[in-house]
Amino acid sequence: MKKLKILYLEDSEHDAEIVGRTLKNEGIDFSVKLVDSQNEYEDALGEYQPDLILADHSLFEFNSVQALKIFKSYNLKIPFILVTGTVSEEFAVNILKEGADDYLLKDNLARLPKAIINALEKFRIDRERQQYLKDIVANESLLKETEKMANIGSWQTDMITGTVKCSDQQNRIYGYEPGEIIPGYETFLSHVHPGEIELVKKAMDEAIESRDSYESEFRIIDKAGNVKYIHSKIVIERNSKGLPTRLAGFNQDITERNLSKIRLNQLNENLQKYAEELESSNIELERFAYIASHDLQEPLRMVSSFMGLLQKKYNDKFDDTARSYIRFAVDGAERMKKLILDLLLFSRVDTHNEAMQMVNCNELMEEVQQDLLSAITESKATIRVNQLPNLRGYKSQLEQLFQNLIGNAIKYRNEKLPLIEISCEEKEKYRQFCVQDNGIGIDPKFFQKIFIIFQRLHNKDDYSGTGIGLAIARKIVERHGGTIWVESEPGQGSSFYFTIAKKIQSQEPVG
Ligand code: ADP
Repeated sequence: MKKLKILYLEDSEHDAEIVGRTLKNEGIDFSVKLVDSQNEYEDALGEYQPDLILADHSLFEFNSVQALKIFKSYNLKIPFILVTGTVSEEFAVNILKEGADDYLLKDNLARLPKAIINALEKFRIDRERQQYLKDIVANESLLKETEKMANIGSWQTDMITGTVKCSDQQNRIYGYEPGEIIPGYETFLSHVHPGEIELVKKAMDEAIESRDSYESEFRIIDKAGNVKYIHSKIVIERNSKGLPTRLAGFNQDITERNLSKIRLNQLNENLQKYAEELESSNIELERFAYIASHDLQEPLRMVSSFMGLLQKKYNDKFDDTARSYIRFAVDGAERMKKLILDLLLFSRVDTHNEAMQMVNCNELMEEVQQDLLSAITESKATIRVNQLPNLRGYKSQLEQLFQNLIGNAIKYRNEKLPLIEISCEEKEKYRQFCVQDNGIGIDPKFFQKIFIIFQRLHNKDDYSGTGIGLAIARKIVERHGGTIWVESEPGQGSSFYFTIAKKIQSQEPVG
């Protein structure tokens, strides 16, 4: 017990001493403020902050009845004990009635320590009870708030008395103000959606019959006629014979959640449909490109060979204009051939039959440089290849990819000698390659456009090409679970980045 602060109203120092000794003998640790007038007493009530008041009955111009009255007006939650000489029994009863906690006669002080301890204990319990009640009230209002925020209502039914209690939020979910309807099973059923009443009734009967708890989802129609989705949980308490004594239920309004789910499913379905349509139109487009380019080769070959024959047989009969017309036609046929071959390549990216294998990228780079030998020699390009990894992929497609990017890096050079660097960075889930050049560069506004088929930034007289190379590159990268992008500034060279996933889902050839 902490040191007790006693305010003691007593005008006899001798008596005060005896009281002090009695307490000390009992081992009570205390400090005392002795007062013997009304003024001193009132001052001490305000300033001393006592834990206990002991009061003699009659003092000079002051007495315990007045002291008790003043004490009451201070509303202190501490015991007031009268320690006095003889008083009448009637007085004793009265003063207890007035609110004193105990009274003792000075000639029976032995009881004082116990009386003090009991009184203090009574106050302690009282304080705890007050606090407990405060906590309950606070918890209840917290619960109300929580129910409101989570849109959860609760109810309980005492199966013995038949009383039903509902929380405010429970009422609100059904569209009513708290207290607006009398809660009960019939009231509840009258709000369940007609299509689900039988199901709900059956489930409820079964739950009460044989279960400890039960969860379900059903629809209700609230006061205003709105259909709401409810998630409900019921807990069933039973007595020792297994008979239900109390039902407690929690209802959550999940209308918003369900509607969002329905909307999301709808969106997903639409998206799926759209993706399927896109895929089938892509496949058709690829088939068309394949067939068109395949079938076009034959007439083109005829045009080229007859042009060749025309040149060979009748060259001396033609004047310069006729000869230049034939040259244009041969040029046109050449370009068309390139276009058809590129289109074929494009359409075959997804339909080829190659199996995935381990590819040594350094060796692959040797082959690519061999393929591009004439362009490299002619442009005096320097190709710097850093240490590259081995990876799983479609070898011929990876070769095509590097060939397109390095080919472009040579083709789109400026007056400087081309310097091309190929490197690779290892990331957690993929490898990131970079093909960097010191060529003409690209305006950022075209960064997306150049990967679209037939999109070119130059005309054929400045730089030859079909506008298919980067579209092929993108398809190949995507088949390897990666993405491709460019970073560049006009005049500052370009860096083409692409990633190759470490785990690629092997794809069955289509078509
Ligand atoms: P093509 O080279 O046949 O025109 P691509 O699809 O390979 O077709 O490239 C599309 C366009 O992207 C090119 O026309 C060119 O303008 C631009 N491009 C591609 N690579 C580079 C590069 N390394 N430097 C600058 N521009 C480039």
